[in-house]
Amino acid sequence: MEPLPIFVGGIWRTGRGETMHSYFPADGSVNATLNAASLEDLQEAITHAERAWRDPQWRNTLPHQRAKLLHKVADNIESRVDELARMQSRDNGKPLAEARGLVMSAAGTARYFAAACELLEGELPTPRQQDVLTLSRYESLGVVAAITPWNSPIASEMQKVAPAIAAGNAVILKPAEATPLMALELARIFEQAGLPAGLLSVLPGKGSVIGDALARHPRVRKISFTGGTTTGRHLAHVAAEKLIPTSLELGGKSPTIVLEDADIELAARGICYGIFSSAGQACIAGSRLFIHEQVYAPLMARLLELTRGLRVGHPFSADTHLGPLISEKHRQSVLEYVELAKREGGRVLCGGEVPADPALAAGSFFMPTIIEGLNNQARVCQEEIFGPVLIAMPFNDEAELIAEANDSIYGLAAGIWTRDSGRALRLSDALEVGTVWINTYKVFSISTPFGGFKESGLGREKGIQGLKAWMQQKSIYLATGNGVNHWCD
Ligand code: ADP
Repeated sequence: MEPLPIFVGGIWRTGRGETMHSYFPADGSVNATLNAASLEDLQEAITHAERAWRDPQWRNTLPHQRAKLLHKVADNIESRVDELARMQSRDNGKPLAEARGLVMSAAGTARYFAAACELLEGELPTPRQQDVLTLSRYESLGVVAAITPWNSPIASEMQKVAPAIAAGNAVILKPAEATPLMALELARIFEQAGLPAGLLSVLPGKGSVIGDALARHPRVRKISFTGGTTTGRHLAHVAAEKLIPTSLELGGKSPTIVLEDADIELAARGICYGIFSSAGQACIAGSRLFIHEQVYAPLMARLLELTRGLRVGHPFSADTHLGPLISEKHRQSVLEYVELAKREGGRVLCGGEVPADPALAAGSFFMPTIIEGLNNQARVCQEEIFGPVLIAMPFNDEAELIAEANDSIYGLAAGIWTRDSGRALRLSDALEVGTVWINTYKVFSISTPFGGFKESGLGREKGIQGLKAWMQQKSIYLATGNGVNHWCD
């Protein structure tokens, strides 16, 4: 198999770093072999990016021209949804239907930021000085770094690259080790849409080598990262040292709350989707379930019934709900958490093991798992498992519930199921999280800011703010009178 080329400063060529592979998690087969970017490749990409960013032709592109480019990107993606979804499924094992949704959302993201960059306006503050007009304009930052995880490549990569380009920056994208395919394809799509060479480079490789060197590079003017909290904290240190902005989308241990008046059927279905879609490999997975004791029994009965009916299977089968986990190593870590839960006193009500189906033996599949009998202090309630494991806990006192739901280092998202929307809003005020879903879960809108409280992150992506986050403001004072400055008389 020919090594897959990488995209360095507008040139497709073999990386000069170590050999790496993209594996299909459903059966362990190799999708592609490539060479990671080396540190020389990184330097080359940055040199080209800096030059391309400074090029007056790019500097002077009008917003509608950048918008046109992003619309072309979206057109390309929309014309190839199935092909791209298949590529994403091969890269990370997501069921095709989910991958299709992510592909469509990537196209939508490109269109949203196309529109946003056309509508972006500077400000004309009323000055507190006479005979002066003040303007405040948004400008690009320069060469910026996007470092992404493996769980939703095309969507999370577009969420960084589209606003960064819309804002006029040059981007170096470092995809996760496990999923280089989609990021490289995205580079082709931007290239075909006419993005000038150098403005996007895609450098696959190890986070600790190429990701770290990228973040530290003196020319890099922003780090936008999605991934684990440990790496996020490290990158925040790097950014602090360089005094550059950073945006961090990190882990979560999101509580889902079922109040005593909830619609049981709606709640059970929403909870099932909230934790088990993507096989639980989502930062926003609703992994801690707090159920009012009055409805604990019926809710759990329905949830177990739905969960036992979920189909774990090949990502390309139309009826699959849960595909494989990203790797055997990750499955082992999920299994260890289930063992830990048992040692902590948890009762496994369903799942907790690999599927018995011999047809799935070669992949890193894991059964959807529900555990009860633990309290919020258990390690499995405090640590992110990033797999299809739900811990269910009854509650009866709202004040205690709020304290428990907030008793986490994380603060990414929460779900509330109730027929009383006033109560849901009061409860959402009390929850220390960046996103609250009421009678729904894991629904996204590109115009709605997303990000975490506490150790779940820093900064927001999406929305108009998500575009401004890739820009810096410059204020200009223009004298409108002919006043003489007498200071040096
Ligand atoms: P996950 O648990 O989702 O794999 P990581 O934080 O390990 O989260 O990885 C997310 C992204 O961060 C990946 O692209 C990975 O290569 C990169 N990464 C990991 N360690 C570092 C580091 N020290 N510096 C920069 N990037 C890193």
